Amino acid sequence: MAFKKRFTPRKKFCRFCADKKLPLDYKRADILRDFITERGKIIARRITGTCAKHQRKLTTQIKRSRQMALLFYTTVHATYVRKRTV
Ligand SMILES: [Zn+2]
Repeated sequence: MAFKKRFTPRKKFCRFCADKKLPLDYKRADILRDFITERGKIIARRITGTCAKHQRKLTTQIKRSRQMALLFYTTVHATYVRKRTV
């Protein structure tokens, strides 16, 4: 059987519990971006399936990331990639 696409409505799981190596860090905007909408809003826990513990930490890291201007605008993405590749 083929793997189902991520974020299947029925089976939810916390990505940070499932993968202990997945960093939950404000510097990792590439990961945090999966948990916010295009407009920069944090996606509700009941949608992403993130557990309470990790959602709390996620919120903190997203807010910090916004302050560091890593996440807030979509155009920032290009800057972020450039920084990483230098
Ligand atoms: Zn978790």
